[in-house]
Formats: sequence, C-alpha cells, structure tokens
Amino acid sequence: MAARAGLPIVAIVGRPNVGKSTLFNRIVGERAAIVEDRARTTRDRLYGETDWNARRFMVVDTGGLEVDPSDPIEARVQDQARIAIAEADVIVFVVEAISGLTPADQEAAEVLRRASAPVLVAVNKSDNDRRELEAAEFYALGWEHTYPIAAIHGRGVADLLDEIVLALPPESEAELARKQREAEADAFSRDVEAGRLEAYVVGEDEDEETAGVSGLGSLDGSGDEPAFDEATEDVVDEAAKRWDAMIASESEDESPAIAFVGRPNVGKSSLLNALLKQDRMIVSDVPGTTRDAIDTTLPWGRTEIVLIDTAGIKRRGRVAGGPAAERYSTLRSFRAISRADVAVLLVDGVDGLTAQDAHIAGFVVEEGRGLVVAVNKWDAVEEKTGSTFDQYVEWIRHEAPFLDFAPVVSISAKTGQRVERVLELAVDVWAERRRRISTGALNRLVGDAAARQEPPMVKGRRPKLFYATQVGVAPPTFVFFARDAGSVHFSYRRYLENRLREEFGFLGTPIRLIFRERATVREPRRARRATARPTKRESRPAIAPKKGRGPAKRAAR
Ligand code: GDP
Ligand code: GDP
Repeated sequence: MAARAGLPIVAIVGRPNVGKSTLFNRIVGERAAIVEDRARTTRDRLYGETDWNARRFMVVDTGGLEVDPSDPIEARVQDQARIAIAEADVIVFVVEAISGLTPADQEAAEVLRRASAPVLVAVNKSDNDRRELEAAEFYALGWEHTYPIAAIHGRGVADLLDEIVLALPPESEAELARKQREAEADAFSRDVEAGRLEAYVVGEDEDEETAGVSGLGSLDGSGDEPAFDEATEDVVDEAAKRWDAMIASESEDESPAIAFVGRPNVGKSSLLNALLKQDRMIVSDVPGTTRDAIDTTLPWGRTEIVLIDTAGIKRRGRVAGGPAAERYSTLRSFRAISRADVAVLLVDGVDGLTAQDAHIAGFVVEEGRGLVVAVNKWDAVEEKTGSTFDQYVEWIRHEAPFLDFAPVVSISAKTGQRVERVLELAVDVWAERRRRISTGALNRLVGDAAARQEPPMVKGRRPKLFYATQVGVAPPTFVFFARDAGSVHFSYRRYLENRLREEFGFLGTPIRLIFRERATVREPRRARRATARPTKRESRPAIAPKKGRGPAKRAAR
C-alpha cells in the first residue's frame, strides 16, 4: 500500500546491502519483516506504519521500488532517491561503515541534495565504537550530521527515530482527527470498564450454526447483571490492536480481505449467513488478530476470500438500539476496516443513509480501503418502480458526494437477492485498488487533461504540471510534479481525479493525488566532497536541534 491519508512518509534510501530492510523491519516491527522475506519483489509491500514519540508515520523501503534490476546499482539507487524525493516528508539515507563510501552512495547523494525534505544520513553497521569512528568519512557527503546506527542490534535507532520525528512536518488535520478518534475510543472503553454505560446488547438467539462462536453472541445481557467483562476487553483491544492490525493486514497474502460493516441491525449477520448457506465446500474460521476476532475464509474461484471479524457478526438476534450500541458497532467497524482491503458498508434500505453510515464510510475513505455500499432489506422497500434504485443511488450521491466512487448494490439478505453480487463487486474493487498505470499512459492522460484545462490561478500563481507517476497501489497513489505545487486548487485535484477515473476506472477505491514541487537542481549545501574531514558534532545540525533528550524512550524493537 501507499500513503495513507494524512500520515507523513519517511523514505529509506541507499544502495543494496547497506541494511535498509533491516532498518525498515526494526522500525515497523516483526510482522512486516515476514512480508519482506516473502515478497522481495512485491513492490507495494515495502510500506509499513509505526509510531514514535506519539507521532505516527509511514515508512517506505525504497529498496523494493527498484525500477529495473538490470540497471547498474548507481542508476537504481538514483531512481530510489527520486522516488523518495517525490513522496517523502523525511528521507533516511542509509550508508554503511564496513565498506565505507562508494560511488553508488555518491550518486545517490547527488540526487538527494536536491530534496526539499530533510535528509538524515544513517551510517549503518556502526556495530561498535571503532566502526562509529570510521563512519566519520561520510561527512564527505556534505551533510553536517550523520547518525551512526546498527540496525541489526538496534544500536542508535532510537536516537535516529527521535530525529526523524523532529524533522517531520507539523501534524495535519487528518492526523489530529485520528488522535481525537482514538481518545474517544479510549474514553469509551473507560466508560465501559467503569460500568457507566447500560448494557447495550440484549437477548440472544443462537442456533446450531453460530453456537460456540465467541464474540458478541457471548455477551449475556439477560438479567440485571450486565456481563461487561468481555465487552471491556474487546473495546480495550480495539484501540490497542488497531495499529498492529493495520500492519498485519499489509502482511497478509493475496486473498482479498473483506469486512461487512454498518450500524446495528442493518443485516450484517443475515448477509453473512445468506452467503455461508450458499453451497460452498469449505468454510474455515481462523483467529483474527484480536482475542475475540474470528475471520472466515471461503473459497472464491481459484483463490479465497477472507471475511474479517465474523465473530462480531456471527450471531443472530436483537441488538439494542441507542447511542451506546451505535458507538460500539462503529468502533468494531473501525477495527475491521483497518484490517480489510475492502469494506462492504451495509445500509438499511428503509431507513436510508444515516449520519452514522456516512461517518463509517468516511473512515473507509480515510484509510484508503475499497468500498462497496450494499443497500439491504430491499425486499422491504415498498412501492418499488423501475427507477427506485436509481433514485436511491442519486440520493446517496447527493447526501455523501465523497462516496461517489463506490458502487452501490441493492440486496436482500432475507431472500438472498443479489447477495453473491456483493462479493463479486468487493473482489472487483479489490483488484481496482491494486491497479497500476504505466507512466506513459498516465502522462498522456495528464498532458491531455492539462491541455484541455489548465490549473486555475491561486493568489496570482498558476501551477504548472510537468510529470506524474504512480508511486503505489492499495490505494493507487500518484505524485504530480509541478511548479507551484502548493497552489493546486482543490477543484483541480477533483478534475484530475475524475479524469483518472474516467480513463482507468478505479471503481470503488479511493485514489490519492500528491502534488510535489518539481525538484530543482540546487548547489549542495556545502562543497565538502573533496575534504573528508569530519565536522564537529556541535556544528549546526541538519535539522532542528534536540532540546534535551528527556527520559528513556521506548526501546527500539
Ligand atoms: P538492503 O539491501 O539495504 O535492504 O540490506 P539488508 O537489510 O538486506 O541487509 C544487508 C546485510 O547487512 C544483511 O546480511 C544484514 O544482516 C546486514 N546488516 C544489516 N544491518 C546490520 C548492522 O547493523 N550490522 C551488521 N554488521 N550487519 C548488518
Ligand atoms: P446486524 O446487527 O447488522 O448483524 O443485523 P441482523 O442481521 O441481525 O439483522 C437485523 C434484523 O433485520 C433482523 O431482524 C433481520 O431478520 C432483519 N433483516 C436482515 N436482513 C434483512 C432483509 O434483507 N430484509 C428484511 N426484510 N429484513 C432483514
């Protein structure tokens, strides 16, 4: 996957074997490491997410983004450096102390000096003090600060992360909103813990099919004694595991992971049951990433589909309405969405699209997941005519224009009408989300679009597009190099997005457009290349100096 909305990107650049992926794995954790082993050639999997000092960011190992492995190393590393310049907010340039400075390092440095993002030079394999001293030769690259690390042992990595976080741009609105949402989830779990909320699940009507499956169904709300223990743990898990789960979802292999989400009583469990009743040969339950989460695997053509967190919906019965129940199902939906490739948002055909539905859908978009809107209980919609569905869709588009990329399907979980279609659409969306457009085709389109309509002037400046490239999939992410990139108006982004969709489809998937100032050739900060003399540490650091190091940070993993 690529840039998740609102998260800054830290790119790791360097020639082969300096330890980029070792550093990447150390920063983003074990699960991504597994991915790395398995998918050396899957370029998209080299993105991971982490947080440090209360800041969350994406890390990308550009080593996996090699364009043409038959190119000489110098050319490949230069390409990586260009990608890093295009999409990163901070660049970590990895070199290594054992073999010392090489021509490939020099070539990469040449490109990186043009970056407007801060560049941190990490001298890896500084396994001991002696090597750390030898690392001094890298001052010749021209950056005034270098950071000795040993990625394999974690030495120096915490300090490097401190510097990375200091160098990140200020928190965006999306990041702040995300923090707010988490604080809300925490507050909610504290309320549940303290018994401040009413029991929100009442009654239960397990049948042989769902008996024994843990999850919501095991919440016994009968009697006066609300059984909150399970709910508490569940909700606490919610916040704690969410981000781990996100990373895990990246590490899962190629089966589409689909989540059914929506408000209570929209028919999620009915849909699941309808699908499982179709004569499928194998259905297996596999533990999800949280204690009570169960995923269901079902065969699909030559592959299989993973349905996320079916424990939460594998129960039948009445669910109490009210704000607490809504909040609970929303939190549960958030967690499922963050683990899924595609979310199927069920809405009630009789009630229509509610604010809560839009809220959940907004989260899907923000997370860059695919989206299918399934209007359920279509059987119960009265006085249908040939145009009822079209009117319904039009109304959804009107109420929530930000969802206009998502396919809408009317279904009835009760009668089974079009329930298979839901999975077909979800799998289509899954494929669209991973679609990659060749640079040539992309630039033909962008050139054409810009010729037809040039970007509007903003505050007396007219941006000019030069070039575009797709830097990632899932969701498809494009970088546009432009003059006055900061002045590209929202309406023009919309225009380009629409043109991309008209030409290439991308049904059901959010797409991301990133505008970058075209890298201009600048003189290196200081012509120090000839003199290999180390700069004193105290001299002006490459980025903001640290104000005291404070108490020990979380140890590097
Ligand atoms: P990449 O090609 O830049 O992604 O490099 P890798 O992460 O695959 O590492 C290349 C080699 O360097 C591997 O054999 C690692 O075990 C080794 N390596 C990575 N970090 C360190 C380190 O801090 N010290 C030493 N001595 N070796 C390391
Ligand atoms: P969940 O809370 O989202 O899992 O919703 P359920 O699957 O438990 O369904 C809630 C209620 O809506 C139940 O009484 C279902 O029988 C009813 N229901 C679900 N799907 C349909 C449908 O397609 N048509 C009609 N008429 N009722 C449905």
